[in-house]
Amino acid sequence: MQPKNYTVDQHKIPLQKIDSDALFVIRELQKAGYTSYLVGGSIRDLLLGHTPKDYDISTSALPEEVKKVFRSRCILIGRRFRLAHIRFRNKIIEVATFRSGNIEGDDLIVNDNEWGTPAEDVLRRDFKINGLFFDPSTETLIDYVGGFEDSLNKTLQAIGEPYVRFKQDPVRMIRLIKFQARFDLTIDEKTKLDFLECRSEILKSSQARILEELMRMLHSGSASKFMKLMSEYGLLEQLLPEISSFIENDKDETSFRFLAEIDSMLNKYSDLKIGRAILISTLLFPIIHKNVMDLTVERTKPPHIGLIQNIIRSHIESSFSAFFQLSRKIKSEILYLISWQYRLTPLKSETKPNRKIPTSIQFVLALKFLNLRSRLNPEYQDVWSKWRDAYEEVKIDPGYFKTYKPRRRGKRR
Ligand code: ATP
Ligand code: MG
Repeated sequence: MQPKNYTVDQHKIPLQKIDSDALFVIRELQKAGYTSYLVGGSIRDLLLGHTPKDYDISTSALPEEVKKVFRSRCILIGRRFRLAHIRFRNKIIEVATFRSGNIEGDDLIVNDNEWGTPAEDVLRRDFKINGLFFDPSTETLIDYVGGFEDSLNKTLQAIGEPYVRFKQDPVRMIRLIKFQARFDLTIDEKTKLDFLECRSEILKSSQARILEELMRMLHSGSASKFMKLMSEYGLLEQLLPEISSFIENDKDETSFRFLAEIDSMLNKYSDLKIGRAILISTLLFPIIHKNVMDLTVERTKPPHIGLIQNIIRSHIESSFSAFFQLSRKIKSEILYLISWQYRLTPLKSETKPNRKIPTSIQFVLALKFLNLRSRLNPEYQDVWSKWRDAYEEVKIDPGYFKTYKPRRRGKRR
């Protein structure tokens, strides 16, 4: 199979935009006699005018051979998908050996370690725009799948038979939506029809991989668009039915507004990090809050904090943990940060508010979430700045948030 090669005049990828460590890795592998190219997401990003977040490299060298070239800089990882990680001061570059893959059988892929040729390697990838090679030594774009044309037409098209490719690995459906949300691409007709037909297959994939893609998207700066598409295409209904039906009926679009605010913060401050508990709470808090407010109307007195915590616990289970397995740590952070919202902004107005800052390090999460709420709701701006000032005061004492390890019990004699 012969690829189409494009010169720099045609593809216009600026070499100086490519990470120098990635170029170093490719050069060293080529010097050692192996074929080696940049592949996948980074080329797509460069063609669409975005700055890549990470760089993947494909090579003819076997993992052990890569290890020989980079020695202590390199560690080999993975079983299902064996890879070399080349470590640099502030990043890791992934190097994978060219693989062949079964692109016709629609069984779920469980093992992906068959070595292959460059052509085979791109054919097992998900979308045409993700199936391009770039050789920096000659600045050639190598296209076996028609990805360059798709990048010009802003089209998202599966490599191979879409129906089969989605069944083989249903996570590709989430990836389809992710690229549409991130780059504003048009999904090719056949790819879209097959995707709609395969939707329910999503529940067959590993929840850990879906959770990973979901979390990456919530932190991507395009989260609100992504979640809207997830809802429109019915994938949200499959994965998070309770959240999906709430979102569909919520005229205020609370979750989307939270996410849009997070998107704009992330797009403004490139090194901002927002914790997973906060990201998940943007989906959970609106449901919980509605539940709490309904109870408040029903009763003469607002529900007490113990009852609110029970409501939060039960929604974490019914909304999120039905399919996903959230870690104990995240669940406890969500419980803490949402229940604290009802202390930071009590349901019953207080004549003398108590602004004592608790010693738990998790309090910062509660405060950050209040900040998010205050950005959407000016009514909370004042209370947010009062809490922030109270927090700034105690934060000056470096010992304040010291965490105490539980004492270990001595051995029984
Ligand atoms: P991101 O910018 O979010 O990292 P990406 O496309 O680079 O997006 P990665 O998970 O880094 O995603 O994967 C790197 C490359 O591996 C992809 O560009 C694609 O070629 C291939 N790939 C990733 N996931 C799959 C999959 N599920 N099926 C087939 N190919 C995949
Ligand atoms: Mg990537």
